[in-house]
Amino acid sequence: MRAMRAFERLRPGTNLKSWFERESMLVRRLRSAIDHSANGSYRICMQCEEEIAPKRLSAMPPAEICIDCRQMTENQATQRERRRWFDDRSEAA
Ligand SMILES: [Zn+2]
Repeated sequence: MRAMRAFERLRPGTNLKSWFERESMLVRRLRSAIDHSANGSYRICMQCEEEIAPKRLSAMPPAEICIDCRQMTENQATQRERRRWFDDRSEAA
């Protein structure tokens, strides 16, 4: 029924074939996005824009960065922590 209403909204002279192709492409894209988010099999790393490994996603579903970037960030954080620890010690001394 919703499709019928969409047809009614069409302006006269609209190229039905290209309209339909555009609509079905949109539907396909939406459907694949829904599928991907439903089974959580596909996610793009926010940092390097590589695909995040499915294994990582199942281990940690809201993962937004891949394992490589995660490790890099963790290493940097660890180094910062260590430096702060030493700084605290040297100030106290
Ligand atoms: Zn990454």
